[in-house]
Amino acid sequence: KKLDEGLEKTKESFLSKLTRTVVGNSKVDDDVLDELEEVLITSDVGVQTTLKIIERIEERVAKNKYVNTSELQTVLRDEIAGLLEENNTSDIEYDIPTHENGNPHVIMVVGVNGVGKTTTIGKLAYQFKEMGKQVYLGAADTFRAAAVDQLIIWSERVGVPIVEQGMQADPASVAYETLQVAKSKNADVVIIDTAGRLHNKVNLMNELTKIKRVMEKVVPGAPHEILLVLDGSTGQNAFEQAKQFSAATEINALAITKLDGTAKGGVVIGISDQMKIPVKYIGVGEQMKDLQAFNKQAFVNSLFG
Ligand code: GDP
Repeated sequence: KKLDEGLEKTKESFLSKLTRTVVGNSKVDDDVLDELEEVLITSDVGVQTTLKIIERIEERVAKNKYVNTSELQTVLRDEIAGLLEENNTSDIEYDIPTHENGNPHVIMVVGVNGVGKTTTIGKLAYQFKEMGKQVYLGAADTFRAAAVDQLIIWSERVGVPIVEQGMQADPASVAYETLQVAKSKNADVVIIDTAGRLHNKVNLMNELTKIKRVMEKVVPGAPHEILLVLDGSTGQNAFEQAKQFSAATEINALAITKLDGTAKGGVVIGISDQMKIPVKYIGVGEQMKDLQAFNKQAFVNSLFG
């Protein structure tokens, strides 16, 4: 799916609200700014980020005496682009960095049930494989019923090997074995699925710390990436999860899924701004190809049509 298509609902809702705000007004005055604030909040940008954007536009309006409403779109577009964290992954290729201490590049994936974690891992594995990379999956989400089976299905679908020890196995032990096997086979990239039980933060933190520690023993520096998967269609809930996971471990990349079925895509802006973690991937459909490297300019362009 193309990015424009994937973001269609968000864009439709956002642009129609924006148009309603400026229609009949030529100057950006307090009323227009109030309405704009509502547009952003109802687009799931989040209160803090919305207020920041409004404040900046206010400053620009004050400096230029007034901004014409026809210029408002350009101003808003600038401000939004300025808030999004830069993602160094290029638009087309999923770069796998090489590491001083040797590869594989290790990605540990976290996220609560149902957000699209397994699907995102499958899509990523597919893309890496398409690039000619050797990929290993590790089924370390051994707690949730059927999580291991689902990952096995994806490994077969994509045609990449998987290391699993069944349900109830020790996640750290699965991660350890996966890295050992992948390293002995000179694999380029390893993707480890882990459980995300938020109801017990201390347990979650301990479990993730333990998994990280054993990884580091096999591949120094691993995990190189801790990718949090969030369901964009849950809007502000996704935001809450980002905060809670960040408190439990060092998340350094985000994947925001299900943007194709929702008008809440504005959440990408708020999460990126508030968490200061780059959105690395976005999910725009259920198929293997429906995962894109996030590009802030392309995102903003799609949002504004
Ligand atoms: P997990 O429990 O987090 O592992 O979630 P799954 O990967 O099993 O996904 C849950 C549901 O969301 C499945 O029906 C997926 O097909 C669907 N899904 C995942 N990502 C996307 C996406 O980007 N867009 C859409 N429309 N559906 C998605």
